[in-house]
Amino acid sequence: MLSKNYTKFLYFLDCDLEKIFKNQEEYICCKDGCSYCCEDGEYPFSMLEYEYLMKGFDSLDINTQKKINENISNVKKNGKGSYKCPFLIDKRCSVYKYRGIICRTFGVLSEKANGNLAVPFCYSLGLNYSKVYDEKTQKISLDMIRKNNIKIFPHRFNLRLSNIINMDITKELELDFGEIKRLIDWF
Ligand code: SF4
Ligand code: SF4
Repeated sequence: MLSKNYTKFLYFLDCDLEKIFKNQEEYICCKDGCSYCCEDGEYPFSMLEYEYLMKGFDSLDINTQKKINENISNVKKNGKGSYKCPFLIDKRCSVYKYRGIICRTFGVLSEKANGNLAVPFCYSLGLNYSKVYDEKTQKISLDMIRKNNIKIFPHRFNLRLSNIINMDITKELELDFGEIKRLIDWF
């Protein structure tokens, strides 16, 4: 029952995110095979997301599960800090359908808790938002938007995990996300 309500939650979330990605499409260059966003991060996951992710893990073939378990051991050996997600296999998410909430927001412009702009980290690799983000002012440059002939100014939303899991729909669906910790710390 809980899992069914969580999949409903994900359906609504994905519909909202689709609109956000659409609004920002001129700034985004994500493509198949690009996996930097899964290669160096902390990946906060709530208990509910972790349980759902593990449903994905259970559906994988034994060799892939073995690789993921090896990755988990290696990350744990390396200790604290950011890490490559153990579920990234051959530059692809092995549990894509079951991935976490934060994974679904990779690549878009968002807002920090204090209201400041949060550009996707990959702008520094010449990827999303790199054509319009001015590092000196730490703002989106209107001049650069014009120069690149971009038509739509991007909306930004607070896409922090703690904000998303406290949306009204969470109460409506009676979801309990539980504790949040780094994905690796669930193992
Ligand atoms: S679960 Fe999948 S999408 Fe999320 S960080 Fe790991 S590999 Fe990337
Ligand atoms: S968010 Fe950035 S790093 Fe991730 S797939 Fe898109 S372009 Fe690549």
